[in-house]
Amino acid sequence: MKEDLEEQLFKNHPVLFADKEIPIEVGDGWFTLIDKLLDMMDSKFDRAVKDLEECTDEKMIGTYRALMLSEKEKLPSILQIKEKFGTLRFYCLGVTEEMRAQIDFAEHLSSTICEICGAVGEVSRGGGWHQCMCSRCRNELVSVKVSTTKRELI
Ligand SMILES: [Zn+2]
Repeated sequence: MKEDLEEQLFKNHPVLFADKEIPIEVGDGWFTLIDKLLDMMDSKFDRAVKDLEECTDEKMIGTYRALMLSEKEKLPSILQIKEKFGTLRFYCLGVTEEMRAQIDFAEHLSSTICEICGAVGEVSRGGGWHQCMCSRCRNELVSVKVSTTKRELI
């Protein structure tokens, strides 16, 4: 993924990437898919932070702080984000059952989103090489391959 898009993910989800900013080893087309998955994972924590910030009742601050810390504890440790056999693989430790289901769904959905441009796509299964692409990106890739081969022949 392009560096500026990676930076955007780290900026959107600072607590999830607080320990380390890992390389996002997939194409730019999956930026929104990953961003939305991370949104679901850290939404309860973000809400708890907001509740704490907005709390004006001194008696309740301790309760809100405890709630925020409890939500922070539930955040997973993200190990690796990559592509395998044409679909997203999102590896992390310490996920809740709800997060596991969100990850499974995002991984499944990735088989319908072009990894290059984000349009509707499908996983190619030709030639032992798998990638999820839309027809336009697939055609462009084929024409690049053809022109490279032509250049090599000249
Ligand atoms: Zn595409």
